[in-house]
Amino acid sequence: MRKTLIAGNWKMNTDRATAVALAKAVAEGAAEVEGVDLLVCPPAIYLSAVGEALAGSPVALGAQNMSPEDNGAFTGETSATMLGDVGAEYVILGHSERRTLFGETDLDVCKKTHKALAAGLAPIVCVGELLEEREAGKTAEVIKSQFEASLADISETQITSIVIAYEPVWAIGTGKVASPEQAEEVHADLRRLLTERYTAEIAESIRLLYGGSMKPGNAAELLAKPNVDGGLIGGAALKAEDFLGIAKAK
Ligand code: PEP
Repeated sequence: MRKTLIAGNWKMNTDRATAVALAKAVAEGAAEVEGVDLLVCPPAIYLSAVGEALAGSPVALGAQNMSPEDNGAFTGETSATMLGDVGAEYVILGHSERRTLFGETDLDVCKKTHKALAAGLAPIVCVGELLEEREAGKTAEVIKSQFEASLADISETQITSIVIAYEPVWAIGTGKVASPEQAEEVHADLRRLLTERYTAEIAESIRLLYGGSMKPGNAAELLAKPNVDGGLIGGAALKAEDFLGIAKAK
């Protein structure tokens, strides 16, 4: 059985003090959340401070991005090994903001995914269609192509460490949430793609998160869908009460 994962993407928000306070509030509230894994992904510069604030709690630590390179002359970049070194267990890869604002391609995401796995991090690989792609009836085609290219050459063993997040770009930070039926349709497609490429048993073990304006008020019906195994939360992850409220909605 897949355990629900509720992951918070804090993006480029918080300062050191508010990041630590938020992490402590999530860690304290985690005791009231049953049967759900919790993960927070602060800005890279606060990973260590947040990791210390989470010490002894069941809340995991993750990063929002990483370099596809190991080390060397890559000014401003952070490697997978460095993230692991400061306690990160997960890393979000291919978030739509990375794809649209920073020109990240499926090939970049794929390289990063392989590097993250080699460093012992669990990648959360994001896929999702633009509004115009949905309106043109191309959602399934776009998701399939991102799935294939972002996860190229990932072995049966490697895929079991990966989480896939379906994040329709039109729903991220817009307040427009996908309907539970829209989310389930894409998640079922992803499960089918995993079954075709690996085995049904492996496909059944992979967690598929939904992301896009998920809030305490809409989480229950999304998380009730059979192929929605959790959420990747942006805005609502910045308030412990809302973040924990989503986890409790399961
Ligand atoms: C996200 O950035 O991954 C996200 C889902 O954001 P929001 O919840 O704010 O839509």
